Amino acid sequence: MPPPTASSLALSARRAVEDALAVVFPVSCAGCDLADRDLCEPCREQLRASARVRQLPGGLEVRSALVFDGVAARVIRSFKEDGRTGLARPLGIALREAWPAGLDGVPVAVPASRSSMRRRGYAPVVLAARRAGWRPFPLLSVARATADQRSLTRDGRAANLAGAMRARPSAAERLRGRAVVLVDDVVTTGATLEEATRALTAAGVAVAGAVTIAATPLRHRPGG
Ligand SMILES: [Zn+2]
Repeated sequence: MPPPTASSLALSARRAVEDALAVVFPVSCAGCDLADRDLCEPCREQLRASARVRQLPGGLEVRSALVFDGVAARVIRSFKEDGRTGLARPLGIALREAWPAGLDGVPVAVPASRSSMRRRGYAPVVLAARRAGWRPFPLLSVARATADQRSLTRDGRAANLAGAMRARPSAAERLRGRAVVLVDDVVTTGATLEEATRALTAAGVAVAGAVTIAATPLRHRPGG
């Protein structure tokens, strides 16, 4: 038997901790429901980033680490909707890979609506960005409430979001002319990122690009 490597020791240490915790807080894998694992190794492997680029109609380039499908979609939903904040770490590691070398800007998280902040008690995008090793700059805020985007078409989403965000003037001043990179969890039609870009541009802030944890595959996009 070969001697254990540092990473296999780290893995067995992590499993030992997970086994101990599972007695107190029963968990199952966020990707496949395997018992006693927050995220099993095969599912963790599925979160290996392979960044893809999409250009939005307004010209913004969006780079996404994962396709919002299968295990990745289940883990992201679990992170956002089931309060499983520990998943910020593997998702943050994937997110970090979406930011290409040479893209220069201050990371700015797309803000969560007030109702989702109340419901969840945390901002998933900010948590994942921190786990990616970034310090998201609190530049954008929600200006007014919007309807749930999920049931809307592309045009409906854009209309629902128009004027929904604003840049905090004092924060925009503190950037002193630096460009920003938008950070979001999942890009669907891109309407949210386009509204964020509009709000920033209106405040005189340049947007160098956007990075997201995942992008929905084309067939899931209502209204094209
Ligand atoms: Zn699993």
